[in-house]
Amino acid sequence: MLVLASFFNPSRNAVICTLFVMIFLVSGSWLQGQVRYLSGQTYFGRNNYIEYIAGGIPIIISAAHDGDMNPASIPTRRCLNCVTVADVGTQDIVRFLGLSLQKLFGCPPHIVINRLHRRKLDANREISEAALGNPEAEQAWREFHQFIDSAKQSSLRSFGTGLYLDIHGHGHDIQRLELGYLLRDDELRLPDDSLNSPRYIGFSSMRNLATRNARGISHSELLRGERAFGSLLAVRGYPSVPSKQDPFPNPGEEYFDGGYNTVRHSSYRGGTIDGLQIEANFMGIRDSRAAMQRFADSLAVAVYQFVLQHYSFSNPFICNTMTSTNDADVDAQDVFTVYPQPASETVHIRLPKTRVESYQISIRDMVGTVVFNEKTSIDAAASDFLIPTAKFPSGVYTVEIRHCYPRTAGAWNVVVRKAMIVVH
Ligand SMILES: [Zn+2]
Repeated sequence: MLVLASFFNPSRNAVICTLFVMIFLVSGSWLQGQVRYLSGQTYFGRNNYIEYIAGGIPIIISAAHDGDMNPASIPTRRCLNCVTVADVGTQDIVRFLGLSLQKLFGCPPHIVINRLHRRKLDANREISEAALGNPEAEQAWREFHQFIDSAKQSSLRSFGTGLYLDIHGHGHDIQRLELGYLLRDDELRLPDDSLNSPRYIGFSSMRNLATRNARGISHSELLRGERAFGSLLAVRGYPSVPSKQDPFPNPGEEYFDGGYNTVRHSSYRGGTIDGLQIEANFMGIRDSRAAMQRFADSLAVAVYQFVLQHYSFSNPFICNTMTSTNDADVDAQDVFTVYPQPASETVHIRLPKTRVESYQISIRDMVGTVVFNEKTSIDAAASDFLIPTAKFPSGVYTVEIRHCYPRTAGAWNVVVRKAMIVVH
């Protein structure tokens, strides 16, 4: 009778109803990735084991092996050939990388971090080896991959494509980045013609990009040509294999070619989101926070150059990085757009149609030298401002716009910056 009485109690029913809605939201929408994640916001899975920072650009980054949570409720993983060593520094690198990419693109990338120690969960293995049957670890494993799946769906919805980077650290003797495209070391030693055949493109985590990229370049060039990811990193002081400078690991040299995450989340299994595993050496990259920060900055530029050179997006990037001496003066109307990205002959700057009466536009190269500087008035702001870029060397630039508000009597008090890339 007590049960019946409470069943017909309206306030109790309201509580039960609310509970059902909450259970539905948590077990249904959340787990199926139907929650609308807001760019720049951080979300956590159960017990905060998995962290997801939602992004606004089609770049997805994960750190599977550098968690430091060791809950007693999950037993230490013990199995034959189980690896439990952490990839020290990679969680910090991924966080630094997120901030560096946000500065370049104007929007944050998607970041998924496993905060459990590898002794408790290996988020780069099949669930059986990853969690060894522990339900709590299995739940975290599912959340890790569901967050990546949500990030992929968001990238596909907004841009039609994307790039996934799984960041790790290796303990091999040769101090170089090992880029894993799911091609074994002996396969990377094959001639270009073989790598460009459908057979080896079919084995690649760059399968989508190898068959349709913005400049029609071949699979082997994507792996070790001038515009390959490894080559862009090598010229910035981070030797990488494969790259133009170091096209394949020699026989007997240790090399990681990718793992479970690269298989699962790249275009190897189809789709238009490519991926690779980046195994970072220790010296000069993970041995101090300053080194991690430097590496993240260089990696961000390589990602930026690679993405804008090889992909054509169904939407322009519309987020902006804003810095201001007076944040109250910056509102949504102050957003400006730089396009096309990359530019070759001419770049368009679409200025906001706001109350601002004049603008100072300046462009700096990567070392900060001003290569363009001009003042324009509100009339020019009614349409695109065109800047010839034919004489600019290929590279990444920063467009800086200073706004002059009438009420501040001529003081150049608001600065908005956005990245621009030139490729000839
Ligand atoms: Zn690892």
